[in-house]
Amino acid sequence: LTPRLQPFTSTIFAEMTALATRAKAVNLGQGFPDTDGPASMLAAAQEAIASGVNQYPPGPGRPELRAAIAAHRTRYGTSFDPDSEILVTVGATEAIASALLGLVGPGDEVLLMEPYYDSYAACVALSGATRQVVPLVEDASGRFAPDIAGLRAAIGPNTRLLLLNSPHNPTGTVFTRDELTAIAELCVEHDLIAVTDEVYEDLVFDGRSHIPLGSLPGMAARTLTISSAGKMFNCTGWKIGWICGPAELVAAARAAKQFLTFVGGAPFQPAVAHALEHEAAWVVGLRDQLQGKRDRLVAGLTEAGFGVRASEGTYFVCADVRPLGFTDGLQFCRELPDRIGVAAVPVQVFTDRPDEWQHIVRFAFCKRDEVLDEAVARLHKLT
Ligand code: PMP
Ligand code: GLN
Repeated sequence: LTPRLQPFTSTIFAEMTALATRAKAVNLGQGFPDTDGPASMLAAAQEAIASGVNQYPPGPGRPELRAAIAAHRTRYGTSFDPDSEILVTVGATEAIASALLGLVGPGDEVLLMEPYYDSYAACVALSGATRQVVPLVEDASGRFAPDIAGLRAAIGPNTRLLLLNSPHNPTGTVFTRDELTAIAELCVEHDLIAVTDEVYEDLVFDGRSHIPLGSLPGMAARTLTISSAGKMFNCTGWKIGWICGPAELVAAARAAKQFLTFVGGAPFQPAVAHALEHEAAWVVGLRDQLQGKRDRLVAGLTEAGFGVRASEGTYFVCADVRPLGFTDGLQFCRELPDRIGVAAVPVQVFTDRPDEWQHIVRFAFCKRDEVLDEAVARLHKLT
């Protein structure tokens, strides 16, 4: 194995899901829903397969999907040319990889906030660039907020790109307009490219709004915006994602993407186009359901004795294991499936400073209510 990949041999999701399966545990570790997306979208995929949409789609993605993505982004006041400014990818995962491989390399620094989604550090390493990692800071209310002064201090002459995730996995933070404005100002001042991971864009709670960094002043020309259908329409296995941005930056990502997978997911592309156009109300319903699930799991975890942190969006809530007498979240998560039949994910593995995050674990609430209730009942056995 090449040294570049040696720190990244197995993902925490694979490890914890294997433990969960072996122990027949309730899996609140890996974030995937246990119900299907809108019926009309599922029917559209079946129809596409039956009618012969089974060969390579066009390199940038099927035209109806690119048109639907462009139309979907108009709600943020942004506009993209479907032909030159949108690229369909194999999930957000490939979008992130393509953007980094196309835009940075040896000698470049990429600015990340920790905890970070695990593929970010691995893809920066694959590109040959290095990462500069600034921790989110917990406030008195248990919300993890971006550290603007820390980001400013971390920017150096080789900093080329900032990779931002909001709504944020694993903390559930939804960055505010003020926070994003400050980050946008840093990007403009230091001439950084921004790549934003917005896969949870629709899953924001309590009346909050998702604001794309690329919609703020000065950002359109320097931002690649990434999202995907998996979280929007409960179809994480379809792996239909996309990148929107100025033609020159999209072309850089496309140059890498064409040699990663070339194309993918032919019959799912028209189905996702259909869902983007016709199933907005279904997504609002999903968001409202998830907010209720967040409340259900937060109440259960609190009763079970965890120190529960704020979750403003996404599938996830973070919790402190110290009130229950544990100190190391990684060890806690490795033992949990066998001990009581529940799986969670330790947050320290998404950081460069594991000691500072070792008391925090992440639970996913994108599950049926009875599954959440069973997990909570089992978690009560910890005390
Ligand atoms: N980014 C974040 C923050 C995620 O949580 C995930 C997956 N859960 C992805 C990217 C990957 O998205 P996809 O499944 O579309 O590749
Ligand atoms: N993104 C999902 C999560 O954070 C899992 C994706 C994966 O298994 N790589 O739980």
